[in-house]
Amino acid sequence: NNIVAIVGRPNVGKSTFFNRLIQRREAIVDSVSGVTRDRNYGKSEWNGKEFSVIDTGGYIKGSDDVFEAEIRRQVELAIDEADVIIFVVDVEEGITPMDDEVAKLLRKVTKPVLLAVNKVDNSMREKDAVEFYNLGLGEYYTIAGMNGSGTGELLDALVELLPEAVAPDENAVALPRFAVVGRPNAGKSSFINALIGEDRFVVTDIAGTTRDAIDTTYNRFGFEFNLVDTAGIRRKAKVKEDLEFYSVMRSVRAIEHSDICILVIDATRGFEGQDQSIFWLAEKNRKGVVILVNKWDLVEKDTMTTRDYERKIREELQPFTDVPILFVSALTKQRLLKALETAVDVFENRKQRIATSKLNETMLPIIENNPPPALKGKYVKIKFCMQLPTPTPQFVFFCNLPQYVKDPYKRFLENKMREIYNFEGVPIDIYFRQK
Ligand code: GDP
Repeated sequence: NNIVAIVGRPNVGKSTFFNRLIQRREAIVDSVSGVTRDRNYGKSEWNGKEFSVIDTGGYIKGSDDVFEAEIRRQVELAIDEADVIIFVVDVEEGITPMDDEVAKLLRKVTKPVLLAVNKVDNSMREKDAVEFYNLGLGEYYTIAGMNGSGTGELLDALVELLPEAVAPDENAVALPRFAVVGRPNAGKSSFINALIGEDRFVVTDIAGTTRDAIDTTYNRFGFEFNLVDTAGIRRKAKVKEDLEFYSVMRSVRAIEHSDICILVIDATRGFEGQDQSIFWLAEKNRKGVVILVNKWDLVEKDTMTTRDYERKIREELQPFTDVPILFVSALTKQRLLKALETAVDVFENRKQRIATSKLNETMLPIIENNPPPALKGKYVKIKFCMQLPTPTPQFVFFCNLPQYVKDPYKRFLENKMREIYNFEGVPIDIYFRQK
């Protein structure tokens, strides 16, 4: 999954260039999602190579008055996230101090940087463009974002730098669908906005705007995923009961529609009733779960350590305790990438398939050493096990007397499987059947 970032100071034509790259795709995304269009991200393709484009300029607020720190942030973002960076400058303006500043940062980068000199639409300006050698970034490409001239050459050079496209996987599965759930004010929107970088999850006043959940695709930190967007049912409630109702409604819809629930809890309040209900809702629906203890920046680290906090939560999760718990701050953006990574890991854990031979090799010796307890003088013999071809992990153990296997033994097997394989954050089912 290749990411190309476009950097440069405001008004050099980054957005025009960005739109040119993602034009076709964006139109499709728009009509499908029906929600606020994602200005900063898009997919593009050239010579059979697909890549995602980020317009980091979208991160700059109040673009008329950009500070060095913000430019620095923009470029650092690009450096962190992108495989290739396109630095756009403006031939009309020439090299500005800010261009120099950006170039200085980019010269230190090991990732490939392409310099695009924009607004070059006549031969006179071709000559003017020469001055951009002074940026110390080597060869440059002249483009005219408005009419698209020069973009072909630039894109040729760009895709040369990207790794070969892998052949489409016929078993390719859908992107992970994440639902960010939790009670009101836990920081769900803040988390989403911090992750997506756009204030799109906005409360709406319009009554009766109920609508089914809609997925929106994002590409962040190199991960592609869908976010379940329940904006349509995010109505502003007049009374507290309504608020609770909509909150639970939203959770139910979002959970049902997702693969993985990112449960955001408020660190200053703990893991309370409503959090627990949402957690069990996710578990009951066999969804993957990641718990984010948000607002960790507000917690006195002297009085409360992560270890204590985590232990307390895990007690409440019994018996499904194999769940990742992360301490984050949507405000300071602490561990956001880790949160996303973990959610993707849980998604992978949930869809893994364990080969029957491997499963039997690992589980049968354990069963032999710890057989189910005899019941009324009868012995249960488990001979064989396999994973079912279901969307969530389910396992069948074939035996002579399935009705004699009780819950504690089932839990024992589940725990063993969790020790051997990685099912962190994923509810699993174990059945016993007669062969
Ligand atoms: P939501 O209802 O779950 O979407 O919660 P919001 O995202 O609207 O956040 C509720 C309040 O908590 C807002 O005032 C946020 O500014 C604040 N908040 C959210 N995350 C954090 C955080 O990590 N640290 C701090 N200190 N405040 C936060």
